[in-house]
Amino acid sequence: MVHTDPELAARLPGAAERGEIRAWFQPQVDVQTGRIVGAEALARWRHPDLGSVPPTEFIPIAEETGEIAEIGRFMAEEACIAISEWDLDVSVNVSPTQLEDSSFTDWLERTLRRFRAARGRLTLEITEGRAIEHATAVVRRLDRLRAVGAGVAIDDFGAGHASITQLKRLHGTELKIDRTLVVDASSAAFDLLTEIVGVAHRAGIRVVAEGVETIEQLQRIARVGCDRAQGYFLGRPMRKADLAEVLAAR
Ligand code: C2E
Ligand code: CA
Ligand code: CA
Repeated sequence: MVHTDPELAARLPGAAERGEIRAWFQPQVDVQTGRIVGAEALARWRHPDLGSVPPTEFIPIAEETGEIAEIGRFMAEEACIAISEWDLDVSVNVSPTQLEDSSFTDWLERTLRRFRAARGRLTLEITEGRAIEHATAVVRRLDRLRAVGAGVAIDDFGAGHASITQLKRLHGTELKIDRTLVVDASSAAFDLLTEIVGVAHRAGIRVVAEGVETIEQLQRIARVGCDRAQGYFLGRPMRKADLAEVLAAR
């Protein structure tokens, strides 16, 4: 279905409260053991009339209208609940808009104190689609969140803005390698990945490869030393109940 922006923007307010937003989860696998060690929470919106709207459509609108505050809190809370139920690492996407808003980071800090289980298990995935405003203040807030046990991942590395400089600037604890680098079978990409993983590991940073769709891609990212992998080959984003079933069958 194709929607116009004004139509979506008009229906988005209150979507989380009405129960139209759901957190789906995509497994993350330890490259060495093949075991599921984590999951990424991904937002799904199903409107009664519009049907399913992909996050690539509604997240940018939510960021523009400010609705991301509600959706972001909902998603972070779902991630914390999932952690306490599954004893698994869970990542949640956080947009620059949310980080620029101290009420979100203050709330998350309180939430992390409340969900003790989530300490050391929750990772915030940051995509700097645009430059973060008030960067100094944002870094300070991220430091406070790390102090209560949150990890900070730089998302979409190898696509767009993400860089080692950014990783250092935001005091990141994880690097997520974008699919464009994962699918690139060239030796130049192999060398680049090897170098990136080396830099990351020397700094104690975890490397996660995303968008892994084939066994060849999985083998390649294993050879360059990535710690974790995520992608359709290992498991699609799924409803919480479905991942719970997969975990129970392990
Ligand atoms: P992302 O954070 O880079 O998430 C990974 C996207 O890649 C997801 O798309 C996932 O379904 C897709 N994917 C996973 N494995 C594969 C694969 O093997 N091949 C391919 N081609 N794709 C794969 P999705 O769920 O449509 O989300 C799109 C984007 O929307 C996310 O990209 C993220 O930037 C944003 N997003 C989703 N949920 C949230 C949220 O709760 N908050 C914020 N701020 N952004 C979100
Ligand atoms: Ca992500
Ligand atoms: Ca990504």
